[in-house]
Amino acid sequence: MQMKCDLVVLGGGPGGYSAAFRAADLGLDVAIVEARDTLGGVCLNVGCIPSKTYLHQAAVIRELEHSRSVGVNFGAVEIDLTALRAHKDAIVGRLVGGLGTMASARKVRIVRGRGEFTGANSVRVAHGDGADALTIDFAYAIVAVGSEPARLNELPDDSRILDSTSALDLPASSGTMLIVGGGIIGLEMATIYAALGMTIDIVELGDGLMPGADRDLVTTWRKANARYVRDIMLETRLSGVEVDNAGLSVSFEGKAAPDQPKRYDYMLMAIGRIPNGRGIAGDAAGLTVTPHGFVPVDVQMRSNVRNIFAIGDVVGGPMLAHKAVHEGHVAAEVIAGEHSKDAHLSTAAFDARVIPSVAYTVPEVAWAGLTETEAKLNGQAVDVVKFPWVASGRALANGCENGFTKLLFNKDTRVLLGGALIGPSAGDMIGEIAHAIEMGSEAADLALTIHPHPTLGETIGLGAEVAEGTCTDLP
Ligand code: FAD
Repeated sequence: MQMKCDLVVLGGGPGGYSAAFRAADLGLDVAIVEARDTLGGVCLNVGCIPSKTYLHQAAVIRELEHSRSVGVNFGAVEIDLTALRAHKDAIVGRLVGGLGTMASARKVRIVRGRGEFTGANSVRVAHGDGADALTIDFAYAIVAVGSEPARLNELPDDSRILDSTSALDLPASSGTMLIVGGGIIGLEMATIYAALGMTIDIVELGDGLMPGADRDLVTTWRKANARYVRDIMLETRLSGVEVDNAGLSVSFEGKAAPDQPKRYDYMLMAIGRIPNGRGIAGDAAGLTVTPHGFVPVDVQMRSNVRNIFAIGDVVGGPMLAHKAVHEGHVAAEVIAGEHSKDAHLSTAAFDARVIPSVAYTVPEVAWAGLTETEAKLNGQAVDVVKFPWVASGRALANGCENGFTKLLFNKDTRVLLGGALIGPSAGDMIGEIAHAIEMGSEAADLALTIHPHPTLGETIGLGAEVAEGTCTDLP
């Protein structure tokens, strides 16, 4: 079977569908090839959205504990895993269904199956059901095939050894779990399973949790979670796992390794993600794919093959949905610019100053732009202002006075270079800091912006006032 289109997008995740929809809006005839049954990729099906559905409930459970401590009592928390899974599935279903509608409204064709290049202008889509393969001839392609969880080959094949995908099926809410990897995904999973009632240990090869975040954020996170995480073993690695009917026996080596193997009911591997670039027969199109599976691109998201672009997790950089979406828009706009009948080359390019990072844990941790650690490493002259939430009336009222807001300004120009927050809704508030950095805001711009009182977001304005020496009245 044969099909033709202006643009074929391999992969229907946040990068792929955003690129496809933008390109269709700009007048291109577009097809998305997606190996899953639904659009939405990792993010909507087995990533951002299902994990946040559970994390919201984790935050509610932790809020209940605070409420109890101030005289508002509830009965014991009871977890109905079946209902919780169904709730998650319903939300995912609504979102991926919505994407299907948005695709048909734009006449974007969806081809189910796994796509592989057969040349620089053709892909072959093999259908899992054994139906005849389809060949799609295209003028342009965008590779948006994303990534998958990294695995350790030497681990036994056992359903109690989870990855981020199987963990979202919530196999248990009691017993013990070892989380392998102290990055954002590992800590989000730790937050979910601790709230459900499991005893959690974390093992991490590096010397700290949440690499990339400033250590003061991590120290505050650890204090807030001391009651919920039993043991954190840093600079330590797995050296063996044995399984039996009763559970898993895990041996460790390294700085915090116990002498004897430890027993767990479950293990959750969160050791990173591998880009899917090796599964698309890039060679057939002359496409460069690195040995790790990344597709190198320029600022217009163009690969080494002029009509083939790549976006999202498969091009490297932070593996985040919001980055993938922006890159998808750039690729679509560049292609549409070339495709237009005047054939003006599009000037679109990916030039974001900051890509915010958020751990949606309890408490949430968010940062954007320059970190204090980076400033020190580069010897950059910065003014660092840390506004403690203990000085925020709203934080006291909400029982989250352990949080803080941090802002980094250029010492001479007073321009905002970076910022971070830890506490509830940090992920929502980091958008203001990201926006301010993108706009080249100075401390005075933030300080003079009237923030609503009493809010946690007010601490951004107050922090800037501290930097300006104008903060006189604390709420
Ligand atoms: P993907 O979402 O990976 O989509 C790629 C799609 O391509 C997949 O659907 C795959 O089936 C398909 N595909 C692969 N190969 C082929 C092929 N050959 N032919 C056809 N189709 C193919 N990011 C955030 O920004 N915020 C979060 O809160 C967040 N939480 C996360 C939580 C978890 C548990 C995980 C695992 C990830 C999370 N992420 C989060 C990361 C986010 O999911 C990814 O960065 C994002 O999905 C990347 O989008 P993408 O379009 O590049 O690829």
